[in-house]
Amino acid sequence: MTKQYRITLLPGDGIGPEIMSVAVRVLKTIGEKFALNFEFQEALIGGSAIDATGEPLPAATLETCKNSDAVLLAAIGGYKWDSLPRHLRPETGLLGLRSGLQLFANLRPATILPQLIDASTLKREVVEGVDIMVVRELTGGIYFGQPRGVFTTETGEKRGVNTMAYTESEIDRIGRVAFETAQKRSKRLCSVDKANVLEVSQFWRDRMIALSAEYPDVELSHLYVDNAAMQLVRAPKQFDTIVTSNLFGDILSDAAAMLTGSIGMLPSASLGASNPGVYEPVHGSAPDIAGQDKANPLAQVLSAAMMLRYSFDQAEAATHIEQAVLKVLDQGYRTGDIMSEGKTLVGCQAIGDVLVAAL
Ligand code: NAD
Repeated sequence: MTKQYRITLLPGDGIGPEIMSVAVRVLKTIGEKFALNFEFQEALIGGSAIDATGEPLPAATLETCKNSDAVLLAAIGGYKWDSLPRHLRPETGLLGLRSGLQLFANLRPATILPQLIDASTLKREVVEGVDIMVVRELTGGIYFGQPRGVFTTETGEKRGVNTMAYTESEIDRIGRVAFETAQKRSKRLCSVDKANVLEVSQFWRDRMIALSAEYPDVELSHLYVDNAAMQLVRAPKQFDTIVTSNLFGDILSDAAAMLTGSIGMLPSASLGASNPGVYEPVHGSAPDIAGQDKANPLAQVLSAAMMLRYSFDQAEAATHIEQAVLKVLDQGYRTGDIMSEGKTLVGCQAIGDVLVAAL
């Protein structure tokens, strides 16, 4: 029986529409192969939404997203909108989407593809075989804790304050996403905290240990964040799934991503409890190459694969896409950002053609 999924497409700005069109072709092809019926609905976000409606996240866009099984986002932003007031910037639309859909979990894989190993700044033997998933808490912790601000003390001195706080339910829900993600991978989960110094971190650790009773098949370990940062660049292969709070995750997910050296290849997922998940490349809208058919669409395509795996539970179809990406790289096709000597330079749509053929 054909399964039915409704996907909201948010092409956004810059290279967004170019890379999105490749991802849609890939999804249509995979749909035919695996008897999955995708219904696409497109909506405006970011600069293109500002131009059309005066707002970076029109209410209709959020409604369309809520009314779907998953959201595939490309990227937003560009020079044209950089001088607008903050509430009218494209980035505000993105933050609005995240809070509007209550996306509390951010999943960012960092996988070294054998074909692109030399793009990493680290030695081949250190990064070869790296396959890490960072699960970051996205809507709590020090980025949102109260009180916050710059206050004047009784002695008249100014004092800046932010608050790192987590409730039990906030920790448990991100913990569950992380344990379940680890179950879909190699069943090893490392929780990163600063429990030696911070009470909130000790509480985080206690909750992770309590939760682990529900997931006896997952091996749980703990690292302090300073050590985790060091281990990520010293011996990244020891990690499988990492779970951590908002601030630590912000930093560690960028460090993990850069192990791979190629921003045009990295997908991500942001998940909530009941609303649809949002899948998007890690990179931005690359206005410097927009409209020139130079963009690498593979991070967008791999984001679509993540959507199949995490929102639709279609692991086989997701793996099929990931293997087609590897095949295209094996055949020597490269966009400019991942080009190296002896390979065939192709544009965004042409790499889409060979990808569809590989599927
Ligand atoms: P960027 O990721 O857009 O670009 C950085 C560099 O990487 C550029 O040289 C670009 O050409 C290149 N690049 C990025 N993606 C590529 C791809 N798929 N193929 C080939 N080359 C690629 O970051 P930036 O230049 O700092 O930001 C540009 C705009 O994107 C800004 O307006 C920023 O606010 C926005 N942005 C949006 C998101 C998002 O939508 N989630 C994330 C980051 C930045």
